[in-house]
Amino acid sequence: MASFIDVKNLTKRYGDYFALNDVSVEVAEGEFLALLGPSGCGKTTLLRSIAGFIGSIGGEISIDGRPMRNLPPNRRPVNTVFQNYALFPHMTVVENVAYGPRRNGEGRRAAVEHAERSLSTVGMLEFKARYPAQLSGGQQQRVALARAIANRPKVLLLDEPLGALDLKLRKQMQIELKALQQSLGMTFVFVTHDQEEALVMADRIAVMEAGRIVQIGTGEEIYHKPATRYVADFIGDANLIAARVTAEGTLETEGKGLSLPVRHNASPETKVTYLIRPEAISVSPAARAASDDVIDLKAVTTDIVFVGNATRVYVEARGEKLVCQFPSSERAADFERGQTVHVSWHRDNGQVLAR
Ligand code: ADP
Ligand code: MG
Repeated sequence: MASFIDVKNLTKRYGDYFALNDVSVEVAEGEFLALLGPSGCGKTTLLRSIAGFIGSIGGEISIDGRPMRNLPPNRRPVNTVFQNYALFPHMTVVENVAYGPRRNGEGRRAAVEHAERSLSTVGMLEFKARYPAQLSGGQQQRVALARAIANRPKVLLLDEPLGALDLKLRKQMQIELKALQQSLGMTFVFVTHDQEEALVMADRIAVMEAGRIVQIGTGEEIYHKPATRYVADFIGDANLIAARVTAEGTLETEGKGLSLPVRHNASPETKVTYLIRPEAISVSPAARAASDDVIDLKAVTTDIVFVGNATRVYVEARGEKLVCQFPSSERAADFERGQTVHVSWHRDNGQVLAR
């Protein structure tokens, strides 16, 4: 994979606080990369550094083989869409979108044609004569996108651009935006704190924690092979059990010394986290046939929660609180609170992570 955006050892300090701490990431041409992490982890700082809005930065950024150092934002081959996409209220839709091309020196007719092409790409051409106040939130967001792609930048940087939309519209826009990115063949770097949004849209996800990228991979890789406890906790639901490796190398829960048969390469006498995803756990009224490969525990249900497409059963087993989840279409058994059940999972579904 030839890298199109190449960020090397980027560091940004505010006083002695590291907003970015030795961040390196490569993005391929036409790739959709999501920067994912909780508020304050440095997503916006990284994005704005690529855009050229942040000074006094350590490290290197190049785009399409060109070093970006000393290049002001307007000379970089990027455009940015912010969360508060601030359309000019006194300009019509088409004027808003034509503003960029005009400023780039295009004549009025050319700029308007340019803007109309962009508006048609995002399905907003019929609204071109309206003012922003006459549009819904989703429509305004589409106009902001049209404005950002009007100059056909090689890279589009998006900072939580769907954050202001309600859930249903946001989900619809996620699909549309992804399709748009693919049809334009543009490189997208997209900031979000919403793991589901990142999973839906991105080719790869960079998970950030406290100014660092802690893991980069496809959604599947990050979900199934999280590098750390933090990543496992951030992506999807997770049962994270405090455990320790014994002197003999076996794994035991810290609570009641429940032995967990799992292949791992953690050192003896270390503290670790055992990860088992809720959907990997089966719940049944009776015990499963015993085997070396299956962990089967007697448990008591503490809550049953119906969430529409899935049902979650909360249990307590040997001092551990676990959540199990199965599709609501699988109505194998109806459980009630306080019921004695068995929870079981294949040992290959459990993973040992650094604590
Ligand atoms: P995110 O977008 O992931 O929420 P930011 O990149 O905005 O996080 O911020 C990362 C950290 O850097 C935060 O702790 C924030 O308070 C700090 N920070 C950002 N900008 C400044 C600034 N201009 N001065 C001081 N601290 C800042
Ligand atoms: Mg931010």
